Order: sequence, then C-alpha cells, then structure tokens
Amino acid sequence: MTPKTFKIKSFGCQMNVYDGERIAELLADRGLTPAVSGEEADLVVLNTCHIREKAAEKAYSDVGRLRREDGTKPIVALAGCVAQAEGAEAKSRSPMIDMVVGPQAYHRLPEMLEQVSRGGRPVDTDMPAISKFDALPARRRANPSAFLTIQEGCDKFCTYCVVPYTRGAEISRPFGDILAEARSLAAGGAREIVLLGQNVNAWEHEGRGLAELIREIAKIDGLERIRYTTSHPADMNDALIAAHGEVEKLMPYLHLPVQSGSNRVLKAMNRSHTTESYLRTIEKVRAARPDIAISGDFIVGFPGETDEEFEATLKIVDDVRYASAYSFKYSARPGTPAAVMEDQIPREVMDERLARLQARIADHQLAFNRSTAGLDTQVLIERPGRRTGQMIGRSPWLQSVHVDTDAAPGTLLDVTLTAAGPNSMTGAIRQRDAA
Ligand code: SAM
Ligand code: SF4
Repeated sequence: MTPKTFKIKSFGCQMNVYDGERIAELLADRGLTPAVSGEEADLVVLNTCHIREKAAEKAYSDVGRLRREDGTKPIVALAGCVAQAEGAEAKSRSPMIDMVVGPQAYHRLPEMLEQVSRGGRPVDTDMPAISKFDALPARRRANPSAFLTIQEGCDKFCTYCVVPYTRGAEISRPFGDILAEARSLAAGGAREIVLLGQNVNAWEHEGRGLAELIREIAKIDGLERIRYTTSHPADMNDALIAAHGEVEKLMPYLHLPVQSGSNRVLKAMNRSHTTESYLRTIEKVRAARPDIAISGDFIVGFPGETDEEFEATLKIVDDVRYASAYSFKYSARPGTPAAVMEDQIPREVMDERLARLQARIADHQLAFNRSTAGLDTQVLIERPGRRTGQMIGRSPWLQSVHVDTDAAPGTLLDVTLTAAGPNSMTGAIRQRDAA
C-alpha cells in the first residue's frame, strides 16, 4: 500500500519534537497529508525516547495498540532513540513494525517507504557522515515559538546516560545553515526561536561559539526572542554569559542542569563540574542579567547516594532558588557504567527523595512567580486557553501566562502580570503591539 496520510507521535525531549516536525515536512513534501483528528492514518511514525526505564517496553506496547479493530494495521515506523537502540531486533520483537529508523537517518524515510511498498522491512540506524539536515526540505511554516536543532549527540558520557549511544558523537551544524533555517522560520511566522542541542552551549563552528550565533540570529527581522536549551555547566563560557547582559532578544532564562548537590555523586556521574563551579557560574550569569530565571535537572537515587548527599541536593536548590526544574528518579540504562555500579538505591527511597525534592522546587517556583507579580512585561501568545476569550502565552521567564484577549498566536502583547500561581501567571493587557 502507498500511504496517503500520516501521523507522528513524538515522545521525550524537545529535540524529538523538532525531529517530528522535520519528518512531517519531509512526508508532506512527498505528497502525504497529516491525518485529520480522529482519522486513521495510513502511516504512523512513533518517534520514541530512550532516556528512562521501560522505554522500549512502552514503545512496543504503543506499537501493539496500533492494530485496528478490524484486524488491519497502518504502516508502522519505529523512529527515535528506541529505534536506534533496538535496531533490527525490533522487527523480531514486533511483527507490526514495518521499518526501523534512527534519529540520524530519518531523511531516508521516503526511500524506506518505497521498500516497504515492495514488501521489505528496512532498518536504518546509521549515523552517516553526511548530515541528514542537508537532505531535508526547507522550512515553510513555523509556530510562534519554533525549535531549531543546532547541535546533536554528546561526547560527555555521564555514567547514567544513554544519549552518547543513541544520538552519537557531538556534532555542530554549520553557522550558515542555521542562519538560513532561522530566516525561513522567521519568514514562516516564528517570533521566537529556541536553539536546541543535547549540549547546546557546546555548539561551535569554524571558531565561532553560541554567543556569536545568538548575536547573528538577533539581527533577523521579525524575530523578537531567542532561547537555547539544554546547556552543560562546563560549556557555559564568558562570551555566552556576556550575551545575556547585552543581547536584548536573548530571553532571561537559563536551563542549566546540575543533577546533584554532592561533589562525590557528581564525580561518580562523570559530570565535569562541581557544586562550587556551578554556583560560581550562576553568580556570573546573575551579575550579567540580574532578573534571569534559572532552571535545572536533578537525578535522585544515583547508585550510592546517601541521605547526606541527597540533603546536599536540597541545599543547592535553596542556594540557587530555581524558577523551575525537572527532577527524575535515577533509572538504570542498559549499557551505561552506572547500571552495574554497586549500591543501587531501593525504589521506596527514591520515591521519598523525589517527593521531597519536588516539594522544595515547587516552593521556589511559587516564590519566583510571586516575585514577578505586578511587573509590566511582554507575553508571546501561543495558543487558546481553556476558557473562551482566553489565550496562553509565555513571559520572558518562560512562565505560562493566561490572558483574556482575542489576540492571535504570534502576537507580542504588553501585559501586566496580575497574579501568580504555582505553575502559571495571569496577565492583563496594557496595549497591543503592531504585529
Ligand atoms: N545534556 C544535558 C545535561 O547534561 O545536563 C541533559 C540532557 S538529558 C537528555 C536530560 C535529562 O535527563 C538529564 O539532565 C538528566 O537529568 C535526565 N536523565 C538522563 N539519564 C537519566 C537516567 N538514566 N535516569 C534518570 N534521569 C536521567
Ligand atoms: Fe547525557 Fe547530558 Fe551527560 Fe551528555 S552531558 S551524557 S546528554 S546527561
């Protein structure tokens, strides 16, 4: 069967969301159309994530659910990091799967579909030297806030993490290609660009670093906001910190994962920073941009983590006063060094630590939100809210802001933040911009 309609389900990080968008553009370029809501698609692409436990099991059960009541099934493409990790094995584990395509090979999907139509079950988990980006169609339409992957892979090998295995070695896309994509996104309606990478601040090309890239992107007409994520503390250089104080379009928000507040745990994780070096970086960033919102990632229950070491994590949360943060229970990933370390922490201990950590983070998040109540600022409208007449957008500090307005997505509104909640803000319009 030659598929006419498709559906893409992306799981996990923003880089997968970006890949999902690029796959959709690639398929649309070949004449396929997105299945409308409720319609059964001819082709389903499961763009999977492998970062935490049971990822593969979850992917296979999602695949199983694609069988229709009448016994037929769509063409099923297993994509993303589970596809990379499972490879050809996926075909023997599920007869439903027609093709397996890794994150560096999805530009070959159209050829693979042809192979499927001839009865093949292709697998492509290569990490080719020629970048997939060169083979993808140009970008035409964009969301008000658009993702742009500039760097992929990782060479840091934190002992708990699968990314270096599933996404491969660190590569930076060329400066000119990124600028061209940013310009097409702006022409396609983006007012904000979020630069993405596993270690986005390690981006470099021909002697230029992320700070120079940001300064160049800031010159693009129509683009009003720039963000970047996720950064590694060891790659937070002075030029980038200075950009936070000097580039008006660079939003006052920094996602800088520390993972743990204990230097012993950080060493066992093979993180190349200490709590002291991390706190010094935060201090410098705040000196450059005093109102910056700091966000982070934490892992609780890394093998051997003692109660005292966990307390040190709570302490760094207090020291930094995070505006938001993601926190995870350590999950042993097959093939990573930490998976075979002694002293794996019992689940109940992890549950208890995670609950305490999340409560502490929530306190700081609410305190941050309250500190912004009463401020006059701008909100980039993204989508309708739950109530009629309400829209949801983002403040410069990445807070969700609910505003009563009929302004279309993509509008930058002058707003006063009138009330703070634990997870969002309420805003009242001051005056509409000209856009
Ligand atoms: N490169 C970024 C850095 O070093 O901070 C993070 C990228 S990683 C895909 C996103 C987050 O997933 C990590 O910051 C970490 O908190 C979490 N993570 C990664 N592996 C994990 C594991 N095995 N168990 C629990 N959380 C994990
Ligand atoms: Fe994973 Fe980030 Fe460590 Fe790389 S730096 S191994 S992506 S946690």
